[in-house]
Amino acid sequence: MPIATVNPANGETLKTYEAMGAEEIERRLQLAEATFRTYRTTGFGERARLMNRAADLLEEDQRDIGRVMTTEMGKPVRQARAEAAKCAKAMRWYAGHAEELLADEDPAHSDVKDSGAARVRVRYRPMGPVLAVMPWNFPLWQVIRFAAPALMAGNVGLLKHASNVPQTALYLEDLFHRAGFTEGCFQTLLVGAGAVEEILRDERVKAATLTGSEPAGRAVASVAGDMVKKTVLELGGSDPYVVMPSADLDRAAQIAVTARVQNNGQSCIAAKRFIVHTDVYDAFAERFTAGMKALKVGDPLEEETDVGPLSSEQGRKDLEELVDDAKRGGAAVLCGGVVPDRPGWYYPPTVLAGITREMRIHREEAFGPVATLYRAGDVDEAVLIANDTPFGLSSNVWTRDDAEVDRFARDLEAGAVYINGMTASHPAFPFGGVKRSGYGRELSGHGIREFCNITTVWHG
Ligand code: NAP
Repeated sequence: MPIATVNPANGETLKTYEAMGAEEIERRLQLAEATFRTYRTTGFGERARLMNRAADLLEEDQRDIGRVMTTEMGKPVRQARAEAAKCAKAMRWYAGHAEELLADEDPAHSDVKDSGAARVRVRYRPMGPVLAVMPWNFPLWQVIRFAAPALMAGNVGLLKHASNVPQTALYLEDLFHRAGFTEGCFQTLLVGAGAVEEILRDERVKAATLTGSEPAGRAVASVAGDMVKKTVLELGGSDPYVVMPSADLDRAAQIAVTARVQNNGQSCIAAKRFIVHTDVYDAFAERFTAGMKALKVGDPLEEETDVGPLSSEQGRKDLEELVDDAKRGGAAVLCGGVVPDRPGWYYPPTVLAGITREMRIHREEAFGPVATLYRAGDVDEAVLIANDTPFGLSSNVWTRDDAEVDRFARDLEAGAVYINGMTASHPAFPFGGVKRSGYGRELSGHGIREFCNITTVWHG
């Protein structure tokens, strides 16, 4: 894939970049290693000052970088600005909390005595340069979610961003430099996916985090495993959205629309499979479909647009094939389902009913504004359908019954269970999946400790 900005709203190539060559990559790896040697000894106060400054700059740049993101990957510009604001908030959160999250720990006195020590401390020390392989769908947020805790912990970052968001990738490097971080603290490597293996095998790179598809995750984790390097993987999702009879149906249907089409439907934590109790199925299906039909599809640079184009022609083709396969299998199309005749890679908000286990869309991730509806007879069946997927990122449940809340929170196979609301990440809460949605956690104290050398300091 060329490294280029191609506007998904009309297919026009706006900017292309040469991939960095071996010499430039070597220079950047050397710089990362050299910078780490001193940066690791800086205090939390100094790191926080720089991180807060970067957050201020990002907030000032919101409008401009918002337009760049929209032009690179097609998200509605309002959502792009909101993404920038969310990043600033996460940067400030880590600036304010890193010291406390990484404070030395004292094990229980009885255990210290039992080991024969006068004192034992557990210290969180940084690991070194960490490689971040990132996707285009939240081009700022995915990176900041890694970079803010990594830099606050004293690590340095090397970003290999998706090939279709090079301007956002370069902006991020520039942002950290303008904030005052020394040059080697955060560097963008403009390279294609083919260059990742060699970089990851380099001894100077200590660990890797990847957000993206399952094949990419498998490739990076295999190499890292071979090199015995730590990885965190944030992969795909096909989150269930369960609606039970006691739910506030209007609200559940209204939020369902947002949960499905946020970011033009290209979000790992978007609700994708809507599992509705049979008593309220027809009423929910009607309201949800009406909401999906009412969305304004159009130019993502326009303020009123709800749904823009998909990020690439290939992405749209993949989605179209999933829907066509379901149609051939007998799915009912309640709305959408046909590629519009217009320039750009648009796909209409679509609702499919009558999904069976044989259809590809039942097992695969629909990365676009396509919802599937399932009917469940009771809680047991709802749990069964919800868990009948290779993925386990997040999940959503609408119910006012406490026993049902307990049941879903106990049994849903996912990294999060959102009750009466849609999944949305927050810097203070751990984020990540189980099954083929990946492993490890980002955000919160769990996220910042993933790339730390957890060191036992024993005093005799
Ligand atoms: P992708 O094709 O896997 O790309 C993600 C990144 O991995 C890009 O930088 C890509 O580089 C790189 N890459 C691809 N193949 C690789 C390989 N074999 N070795 C090394 N690097 C490789 O995914 P995407 O289409 O951009 O993103 C969509 C996927 O990401 C969806 O499945 C979505 O659910 C998932 N996602 C997950 C989360 C989460 O937090 N769990 C968040 C957002 C998205 P190139 O661009 O150069 O190919």
